[in-house]
Amino acid sequence: MKLLVVEDEVKLAEYLRKGLTGEGFVVDVAHNGLEGLHLAMEGDYGAIVLDRMLPGLDGMALLSALRSKKGTPVLMLTAVGGVEDRVGGLQSGADDYLVKPFAFSELVARLHVITKRGSNTNEYHSEATTLNLADLELDLVRRKATRDGQPLVLTAKEFNLLTLLLRRQGEVLSRATLAEQVWDMNFDSGTNVIEVAIRRLRTKLDVPFDCPLLHTERGMGYVLEDRSTV
Ligand code: CA
Repeated sequence: MKLLVVEDEVKLAEYLRKGLTGEGFVVDVAHNGLEGLHLAMEGDYGAIVLDRMLPGLDGMALLSALRSKKGTPVLMLTAVGGVEDRVGGLQSGADDYLVKPFAFSELVARLHVITKRGSNTNEYHSEATTLNLADLELDLVRRKATRDGQPLVLTAKEFNLLTLLLRRQGEVLSRATLAEQVWDMNFDSGTNVIEVAIRRLRTKLDVPFDCPLLHTERGMGYVLEDRSTV
């Protein structure tokens, strides 16, 4: 999944870029509000981490400009931790709010929650943070996958690939879709990155179990589906 970080403190922005990349996200960074707004409008981001105090255009102004066009989930960062500020941020369309300094693990957990629930703030407390198919379960907050209660040891990319397939279970996803959503690359038929990743995922996900869930549709792509009862 692609994230946009809009943060003018260069050191913090770089720390976030490195850390979030390590969590398997694809990260773009903007260091001022105008650049951030431009990227947010043009790009296809799963979520935006938005600093409140920014040069050029502040976080609140960026958010309201964005909200007139797009519902991309936004997690706002602020040094101001007052209740009024928090309420103001949420009312202006932020999906969540984090006060600096924050723990990186909390940022990651909250990003997983807001990207799972989209930008519908009403579902904040009821939205499940797990995805299921047959005996497969993904815990999106803890980023753990299990089948039949047994943990699957996945890399960050494999987890993201499985999350996408599971969210869109029953739907055939093309290599181009997977390349763009999981690797942030334009699909080039000369590369076998996708095939290799699918093969590795299948080795962990399906080979040790009786019922395969990941299926190849020749010439079309891949689909995650329980076909045991079909
Ligand atoms: Ca700032």
